[in-house]
Amino acid sequence: MNKKLILIIDDEPTNINIVAEILHNLYEIKIATNGTTALGMIEKIKPDLILLDINMPQMNGYEVASKLKSSKKTVDIPFIFLTANNNSQNIVEGFKQGAVDYISKPFSKEELLARVETHLKINELQNTLKDTVDELAKYVEIMDKNIISSSTDLKGVITKVSSAFCDVSGFTKKELISKKHNIISHKDMPKEIYYDLWKTISQDLIWKGQVKNKKKDGTDYWVDTIIYPDFDKKSGEKIGYTSIRHDITDKKRIEENSIHDELTKLYNRRHFNKVLIDEINRSKRDKKIFSFMMIDVDNFKLYNDTYGHQEGDSVLFEIAKVLKSYCKRAGDFAFRLGGEEFGILFSELTKEASKTYANVIRKAVEDLKIPHSKNSISSAVTISIGLVTINHDDGMTDKEIYKKADDLLYKAKKAGRNRVYTQE
Ligand code: GH3
Ligand code: MG
Ligand code: MG
Repeated sequence: MNKKLILIIDDEPTNINIVAEILHNLYEIKIATNGTTALGMIEKIKPDLILLDINMPQMNGYEVASKLKSSKKTVDIPFIFLTANNNSQNIVEGFKQGAVDYISKPFSKEELLARVETHLKINELQNTLKDTVDELAKYVEIMDKNIISSSTDLKGVITKVSSAFCDVSGFTKKELISKKHNIISHKDMPKEIYYDLWKTISQDLIWKGQVKNKKKDGTDYWVDTIIYPDFDKKSGEKIGYTSIRHDITDKKRIEENSIHDELTKLYNRRHFNKVLIDEINRSKRDKKIFSFMMIDVDNFKLYNDTYGHQEGDSVLFEIAKVLKSYCKRAGDFAFRLGGEEFGILFSELTKEASKTYANVIRKAVEDLKIPHSKNSISSAVTISIGLVTINHDDGMTDKEIYKKADDLLYKAKKAGRNRVYTQE
């Protein structure tokens, strides 16, 4: 290891010799016999410690000290005053000038060695600490720029947000702090998610989930979110929550495209196949009832023939909007199953209530009053519905449920259209 470098500044060669004699075995020694020469050397040799005499002609020790303290390059170099001026006023003045210590002459060899060693050690620790703090500050800056994070108090009021949070949401820190997270809530997120989130974190558990949020400009973004409780270091009491998020918008876009129908923006047939199986399993597990409506537009071929395919497309879009508006609860799903066929899965309504609900939807489509002069049952566009309600212990497979609804739909068509048919 390199020896530490000590600079001795003293106008008396005898004093320099005494000090150098004690220290030279352990340290590298440089000397200066006046303040001006010393200041000229210091920036170049960067001593680890300076032993500084106070009484010197021209520039005294205090002046040298004040010069050291006024330059950024030398401000952190520790110096010890070494002098015969050992009245308390001088000592106080020495510390005021920024000295780390004060040694009165005459001193013992042991005292000098001990003080020098102590201050070199302290200085080294301080430098390490400074490096660590700088390093940490660098990490904090990187995290601030790249990690979408925020902290709240116990009521969910935002107390801290990272720059990455501002970047992704389009809000400034000022706009976010002291607001609640509902400033970025997206209407598409089912309320149940937030109930679950609060229930989890209130029990001091970590909540994880994918959340769709709203930017300041109204567009959306998706984040994979982890929320965990914060505890006060001293009292151990819970003081709030911190969440860390990861932007998954691109992944979600691809995922959403693959399960949505382009024209109507409803879920597609592929997603239906999955959700139907999920619903069957959920119903068995939770011992809950669920229903499936198969919906078909009446005389739609005639509609296209009369008004054109493009008009037909707009009708499908309008009907999809109605279906979606009736599927607002977390367990409700609307699908475009293909062509002019739609499906709705919903849970927890009895057979009777399901039929009433299906009729409300059927009526809502009729009430759009989209003219359809060739429709056999009405002068407006109408739909027919085959409705199946499934008990948890029915043991019906997805194929059987689909077939049953299809059969009932066929019956509704046979019976004259614009109606709901349900199993006996
Ligand atoms: P029904 O009342 O018995 O259901 O009579 P329908 O004419 O609706 O039934 P059919 O199955 O004979 O015809 C369905 C029509 O739906 C034929 C097709 O041109 C039309 N269709 C299917 N997909 C689309 C679409 O994406 N856009 C438009 N405009 N029409 C479509
Ligand atoms: Mg059809
Ligand atoms: Mg049809």
